[in-house]
Amino acid sequence: MTDEPIQIINDKCVRCGACVKACPFGAIAQAEKKSFPVIDLHKCTLCGACKEACKFDAITIQAKPAPSTTVTLDDYKGVWIFAEQHDGVPQSITFELLGEGRKLADQLGMKLSAVLLGSGIQGRTDELIARGADLVIVADQPELASFQDEAYAAVLSELIRRHKPAIFLCGATTIGRSVLSRVAVTVRAGLTADCTALAIDPTTHELLQTRPAFGGNIMATIITPNARPQMATVRHKVMKEAEIIPGRKGQVLVETLSQALLQCRARRIRFEPEKEKSANIAEANIIVSGGRGMQKPENFDLLRDLAGVLGGAVGASRAAVDSNWIAYSHQVGQTGKTVCPKIYIACGISGQIQHLAGMSSSDIIVAINKDPDAPIFKMATYGIVGDLFEVVPRLTEAFRKLLAK
Ligand SMILES: Cc1cc2nc3c(=O)[nH]c(=O)nc-3n(C[C@H](O)[C@H](O)[C@H](O)COP(=O)(O)OP(=O)(O)OC[C@H]3O[C@@H](n4cnc5c(N)ncnc54)[C@H](O)[C@@H]3O)c2cc1C
Repeated sequence: MTDEPIQIINDKCVRCGACVKACPFGAIAQAEKKSFPVIDLHKCTLCGACKEACKFDAITIQAKPAPSTTVTLDDYKGVWIFAEQHDGVPQSITFELLGEGRKLADQLGMKLSAVLLGSGIQGRTDELIARGADLVIVADQPELASFQDEAYAAVLSELIRRHKPAIFLCGATTIGRSVLSRVAVTVRAGLTADCTALAIDPTTHELLQTRPAFGGNIMATIITPNARPQMATVRHKVMKEAEIIPGRKGQVLVETLSQALLQCRARRIRFEPEKEKSANIAEANIIVSGGRGMQKPENFDLLRDLAGVLGGAVGASRAAVDSNWIAYSHQVGQTGKTVCPKIYIACGISGQIQHLAGMSSSDIIVAINKDPDAPIFKMATYGIVGDLFEVVPRLTEAFRKLLAK
C-alpha cells in the first residue's frame, strides 16, 4: 500500500473502463483499451464517482483528513494575484488586484507576486512589476495561449503546491470565477466569491473577505482559519488600479510545467466576438440602462444614441433581457453583471433588489421613470419623473450640444 489517497487494486480490477467513464474530472485514463486505469492525482478531487461506478470493489479512497491537520499555516507565505490577460494584454482587473494586493502584502510584511499564464507573454512582466509586483511567476506555454479552465486550474494548483502562498486573489470575472473555484477544490482551500472589500485582521493576520449577501442586504465578512491559501475573487471596478511607478524593480520566475498539466478535454476551436458592437458594461464609466419600460427592442436605439453621445455603454434589466430585447451580456444585476460606473442612467427600470445588487455602487445614479413611487428613486442621486420616450431624446440632444462646444 502507498500513501496515495486513492488507489486502484490491480488484483480486483478487470480493466472494464467504468471508472474512466464515471470520472467527471477526466482524472482517470487507460493508455490502451483493457490496460489498467491510471489516476492523475492533479486532477482527481476524491469525489468518489469512480468508486461508486466500480462493480468490483477495486478502488479505495482514504477519508479526507480535516484541513487543519493537513496544512501547517505558517508554511504559507506571500500574497498572490492572478494576472488575467487577453491576447497577452493584462486586463484592468489585474491592476486593481495589484493595488489591493500591495496593501495586504505590506500589512503582512510579505512579498506580492503576480501569476501570469499565457503564451509569448514574457515581455509583459515589466508593467506588473511597475504596478507593485515584487515577483512575477510566469507559465509560458502555447497550450495556455487562451483561457482553458482545465489547464489553467491545473497549472495554478501546481504552482500553489510548489510555492505555498498565504493569500491568492483573482478577479470575479468570468475567467476568475471559473478557474479559482476549480483551484480551490483541487488544493482543498476555501473560496470567497465576489468580494467588495479585503483587509487583514490586526490580531490574527487572517484575510477578512467581505462580500454582499442576501441580494446585497447585508455585508458578510468571511475568514479562512484552517486552510491555505486564503482565496477570494474580487469584484471588478471596486478596488483602485495600482499606479505605475517608473523604474520599479522586481523578479521574474519562469516555471517549467509537465505536459500532463496542460491537457484539456475541451478544445477551443475559435473565438466569436459579440455581434453587437458596444462597449463592455463591466469596463464602462457611463452606462445607460433600459428596463421593461422600453417596451420593444427597437426602442433601445434611443439608449444607444444617448450612450453614444456620452461615450458610454448600454445596460439592461433582466426583464428587458428575458423579453429578448437585448443580449444577456448587457444584463445588470444579481444574475447579470456587477457594474460600478461613474454615472448610471436607469430608464424605465423599477429598481428591484436584484437589479440594485448589480449597480448600487455606481457613483451617480440617474433614474428616469414615469412612476414617482418606483423604488429606484430611493437609490437615485437624481430622479426624473416622466416618460422616458420624451426625456431620453431631449437629454441626448442637450448633451450632444453641450459636448460639441
Ligand atoms: C433570482 C433572481 C435573480 C434576478 N436577477 C436579476 C438581475 O440580474 N437583473 C435584473 O434587472 N433583474 C433581476 N431579477 C428580476 C427582478 O426581480 C425584476 O423583475 C426586474 O429587475 C424588473 O425589471 P424592470 O425594472 O425592467 O421591470 P419592471 O419592474 O416591470 O419595471 C418597469 C418600470 O418601467 C417604468 N416605465 C414603464 N414605461 C415607462 C415610460 N414610458 N417611461 C418611464 N418609465 C416607464 C415603470 O413605471 C416601471 O417602474 C431577478 C429576479 C430573481 C428572482
